Amino acid sequence: MLIDSHCHLDYFTEAERRAVLDRAATAGVIEMVTIGTTMAQSRGLPALAEVHENIWCTVGVHPHHAAEAPIPAPEEIAALTQHPRVIGIGESGLDYFYDRAPRDVQRDNFRAHIRAARLAGAPLAIHARDADHDIADILQDERDTGGEFRFLLHCFSSSRMLAERSVAMGGYVSFSGILTFPKSAELREIARDLPPERLLVETDAPYLAPVPFRGKRNEPAYVAHTARVLAQVRGLEPEALADLTTTNFRRLFLKAA
Ligand SMILES: [Zn+2]
Repeated sequence: MLIDSHCHLDYFTEAERRAVLDRAATAGVIEMVTIGTTMAQSRGLPALAEVHENIWCTVGVHPHHAAEAPIPAPEEIAALTQHPRVIGIGESGLDYFYDRAPRDVQRDNFRAHIRAARLAGAPLAIHARDADHDIADILQDERDTGGEFRFLLHCFSSSRMLAERSVAMGGYVSFSGILTFPKSAELREIARDLPPERLLVETDAPYLAPVPFRGKRNEPAYVAHTARVLAQVRGLEPEALADLTTTNFRRLFLKAA
């Protein structure tokens, strides 16, 4: 039984979502987490999660949207986790590839989400693109100055340095369809070497469909293909890999335990 730790189910219509959930169930995907990207959108996600019992959600502001509204106070973000279906914070982080928001605003937004994660005792889903050193340094600085918090690197495609520093700080690493792409040999080596108890899988649907659906619209059922590649990389049977990542998920996301 697999859990898709990161997807965007609000990008599907209600009719599409019903079909998507049916196919997920058939594929053995028992639960999924739909992700906050702005505060306004995040406030609507608990209602979506209430309709479908196997959907959880997170709340937060994606780095792409960091400059569109005032950066929310950590207390404001954390308060939204009081809803029983809200199990995490995010996604937040840094994206220096697209640079849709000024970098200093992205950094302030990222720190607000780390502080929210600490306040709420809930994990932060981190989006990292071309910003490995700033991500690692901010995580370390927040940890040193404010104390511990829970987090995962979502849709991991960054450097070994960021993976290892994050694991050293107690972080988890979630692999998406990128792991299945032919060119991702280095990524598979990183996935092979990380501690087993820190591995997660996700789709990031509707984006980044794994092989053999690459280029098509992604959906939670396809997390099985990423999990199959991760199982090969780790030398595990698919069932053992599914058990491992599901156990890891429930250890990280305490409200889903
Ligand atoms: Zn992301």
